[in-house]
Amino acid sequence: MNQHTQESLNARPDPEKIRQAAALIREGKLVAFPTETVYGLGANALDAGAVQKIFRLKGRPATSPLIVHVGSREAADALAKNWRDDAEQLARRFWPGPLTLVLPKRELIPDVVTAALPTVGLRVPANAFALALLAEAGVPIAAPSANRFTELSPTTAAHVRRSLGDAVDFILDGGPTRVGIESTVLSLATPVPVLLRPGMISVEQIEAVIGKIEIAGAPAEGAHPSPGMHAQHYRPKTLLLLVKDADLPTWGRGAYLFMNRSAVARHRIGESIEMPSEADQYATTLYDTLHRLDEGGFDWIAVEQPPETPEWAGILDRLRRASQ
Ligand code: AMP
Ligand code: MG
Repeated sequence: MNQHTQESLNARPDPEKIRQAAALIREGKLVAFPTETVYGLGANALDAGAVQKIFRLKGRPATSPLIVHVGSREAADALAKNWRDDAEQLARRFWPGPLTLVLPKRELIPDVVTAALPTVGLRVPANAFALALLAEAGVPIAAPSANRFTELSPTTAAHVRRSLGDAVDFILDGGPTRVGIESTVLSLATPVPVLLRPGMISVEQIEAVIGKIEIAGAPAEGAHPSPGMHAQHYRPKTLLLLVKDADLPTWGRGAYLFMNRSAVARHRIGESIEMPSEADQYATTLYDTLHRLDEGGFDWIAVEQPPETPEWAGILDRLRRASQ
């Protein structure tokens, strides 16, 4: 059992709520539920009509494929056409956990789930609530983040309520999510695996298991290697600026998220927040901090640029997109 599973088992889901939520999934309804990354807006992945509702509710373009959540490696294998050796190795090492594997899909997955791509993104989430829901529902659950398109992803049930409100049939509250940013996405649909989206499982960790992989070009720079890699994504409503050397705007009232305290004293700032200097902890608190500041009526939110090292790659990617 890896570290992600261990920690998520500490929270205990209420069996009655799990039964209710699972029944709704089987009826073709939408259920928001926690994973270890962010809250997902879930539907039965084998029910095209149910999945269609996700796109309508989020305002998500049909070109953006959804991740399909399953309860086990065997369940993933059953949805993929070609469960390769490297998929097996990665799943054994990182599942349950924040790594999505993109593989050629079997026909039983409706096209609406994958934006008509011949591939599907699969993962086993490391969250006791998500795993209980998957087990009780007995079907794979397609789920993007439980927010309206381009907004910040939710990391608490309250964030979900604020974005989607009564439009969602059920919100399963499992407390704040532990990882805090979206999963790493790796394509295994090509001979050499390709990283499509960085996350808290780093390229170095993946390469330690399966050897050299390729990195897809930054989404902001022209052609997208896959649909759904929109540059403007993961964004607060407030203007977000990624800054170096405390180079802060001189206008308006702003908030500053910093790691290096020495820069702060030189400026008058509406609110300054010291962020964790360790990447895992930083990711855990980032979205909740941005959600809170987004309600604070600031003219801007400046974020000190984190280091450009492998363990920060997922965080830096989200901050860059948020500042587009
Ligand atoms: P999210 O935006 O967190 O809902 O995660 C979905 C993301 O996973 C998409 O935006 C894509 O970047 C990626 N993804 C999911 N399925 C596929 C797929 N079949 N092919 C390529 N990328 C995918
Ligand atoms: Mg999202």
